[in-house]
Amino acid sequence: MAEKGFYSLPDLKYGYGDLAPFLSEQLLKIHHDGHHRKYVNQANALLEKLDKAREEGTMGSMKCDIQSLAFNVGGHYLHSLFWENMAPTYAGGGGEPGGLIADLLENEFGSFDRFKKEFTEVANSVESSGWAVLVMCMEANRPLLMQVKDHHLYSIPGFRILMVLDVWEHAYYLDYQNDKAKYNQTFWDVVNWIEIDQRAEDIAGAGKVESRKAVNPATAHIIPKR
Ligand code: MN
Repeated sequence: MAEKGFYSLPDLKYGYGDLAPFLSEQLLKIHHDGHHRKYVNQANALLEKLDKAREEGTMGSMKCDIQSLAFNVGGHYLHSLFWENMAPTYAGGGGEPGGLIADLLENEFGSFDRFKKEFTEVANSVESSGWAVLVMCMEANRPLLMQVKDHHLYSIPGFRILMVLDVWEHAYYLDYQNDKAKYNQTFWDVVNWIEIDQRAEDIAGAGKVESRKAVNPATAHIIPKR
């Protein structure tokens, strides 16, 4: 049987200073190497704790442990997607989408500008800690917007993610202080449309094969099929 796995902090595909001026080098380093690493470590510690309890036949606080697991694994997964749906401007970040994602957005929202306005408003209106998220619903064949509170609440289970924006205070405060709206607007300068289009293609491809297969809605959005 395959050995049980653990989570690991992914390397960024660009340098800490490469998303400036959207994010300063100091902010991105703290966010990736500090916050994201902590979610990975806490998720792994919880898995070890659950493994140990199962070996010993003991029962801790399941409610507490699995809620904490959802928070930390959700944090790990969303940050992993976030780093990759951004790119430095020298590597194609910003601009407008092409390909399938452009068609999906145009079809759903009427125009790319309308999509940007709605996504930005979703991000602006997140209360306290959370995320603005664009997902794909294969049943209705529509991209949908949602907010994720913390890293795991208020989300619609089961939908594959196209794009995320972290709007926790830790994501912007060092550079923007309380001007979250400016951070949300500047995000468009580093969106990696090539990566997001690839996600749309992957989801569409998987949908053709698997669209009516039973998928566990509680975990389908947590397991990246990349
Ligand atoms: Mn974050």
